[in-house]
Amino acid sequence: AFLDQIERVDDDVKAFLHVDRAWSLDQARVVDARLDAGEKLGPLAGVPIAVKDIFCTQGVPTTCGSKILEGWLPPYNATVIDRVRNAGLVMIGKANMDEFAMGSSTENSAFQVTGNPWDLERIPGGSGGGSSAALASFQAPLALGTDTGGSIRQPAAVTATVGVKPTYGGTSRYGVIAMASSLDQPGPCARTVLDAALLHEVICGHDPMDSTSIDAPVPAVVDAARSGDVRGLRIGVVKELGGNGYAPGVEQRFREALDVLKAQGAEIVEVSCPHFKYALGAYYLIMPSEVSSNLARFDAMRYGLRVGDDGVNTVEDVMRLTRGAGFGDEVKRRIIIGTYALSSGYYDAYYGSAQKVRRLIAEDFDAAFTQVDVLVSPSTPTTAFKQGERTADPLAMYMSDLCTIPSNMAGNASASFPCGLAPEDGLPVGFQVMAPVLADDRLYRVGAALE
Ligand code: GLN
Repeated sequence: AFLDQIERVDDDVKAFLHVDRAWSLDQARVVDARLDAGEKLGPLAGVPIAVKDIFCTQGVPTTCGSKILEGWLPPYNATVIDRVRNAGLVMIGKANMDEFAMGSSTENSAFQVTGNPWDLERIPGGSGGGSSAALASFQAPLALGTDTGGSIRQPAAVTATVGVKPTYGGTSRYGVIAMASSLDQPGPCARTVLDAALLHEVICGHDPMDSTSIDAPVPAVVDAARSGDVRGLRIGVVKELGGNGYAPGVEQRFREALDVLKAQGAEIVEVSCPHFKYALGAYYLIMPSEVSSNLARFDAMRYGLRVGDDGVNTVEDVMRLTRGAGFGDEVKRRIIIGTYALSSGYYDAYYGSAQKVRRLIAEDFDAAFTQVDVLVSPSTPTTAFKQGERTADPLAMYMSDLCTIPSNMAGNASASFPCGLAPEDGLPVGFQVMAPVLADDRLYRVGAALE
């Protein structure tokens, strides 16, 4: 049924970069055979899943939204891909994304622009806009995303879906093409809170293949999603994430959601996190610094595209020509910024200061979590904007992640849940919840109470 829905609507939505009907049906038959043989699979056995094209999938094209990886077939699976396969989920396709996960609209994909199913002329968020659009157009019931600065939560917010960034280290990054390794975190995307929790449980947990993976029990997210009990929960509204620059409809729906939680017995207080306003600036130094280093591996020798390999050019020429042709503008912009920020003489002024700001943000969270159990804010300042509206202005595009970035900087768990449609444009609004490290279950408690 989902493959049929893809055939019906994806020419218009453009959520998928790769769909192989026969391959997916074969995988489904394998799951059937495992069940027939008496294997005990979990509750998601047989459920289709869309996979952001940033995850390495053995023998299945993986581009990360970039021409530089066109035609590359990974020789291995990411850990989370193995986990969803072992649990019996069936990959239904690779979802579109901003090139190397850099963007907030999926317009930086080298291949296609994805439409928001609520209004195809608007953006479905980014970088995981293919996944959010696939969910919102019923082309898949579940999706896998990654969140470096908001790429799971912001697409969820603008499509009225659920997106969760687990605690950093909660899910394995092994086999996930790296953007900024100290911030990247894979997580579940779904249409309901319980669906997200069930997927969360499948993909999370310690992995010796990722040195930053946390060796601790997975928080009881499914129980939390089933309970939705927020009685006595102390909810802190972050004072700095609201007001000027936030759309009136976003503020209104956010406030109404607070009333819903209060009516169910939660205690709402206002909390100040004075350093959150510096998060965006620090992120745009730390992230590109890691990008410039991580993307050095695309050297024309190992993966995908190779330009100028005609026996005349030098190795350096081939690298320069391939990277020149293979990377898009936003990727080049970030490599240049990162290389500059890390260069000797500037390192302390830029990268060093940004790291200090990062610490102050983490301390804001620590202080807040002595007073409250979770922090909340709108997920994004505005609803989905029109395609093309921010492409010429990178700074306007970067503002999309104002609310989501602090959690990546501090590594704590965070999620976006639907909280209605803005009255002025009828478009979805997202409610962000932030919880302490390894308290991911609290996100689901609040999400279920709002659903
Ligand atoms: N939109 C943010 C950026 O462009 C976040 C990306 C992400 O989380 N991968 O960097």
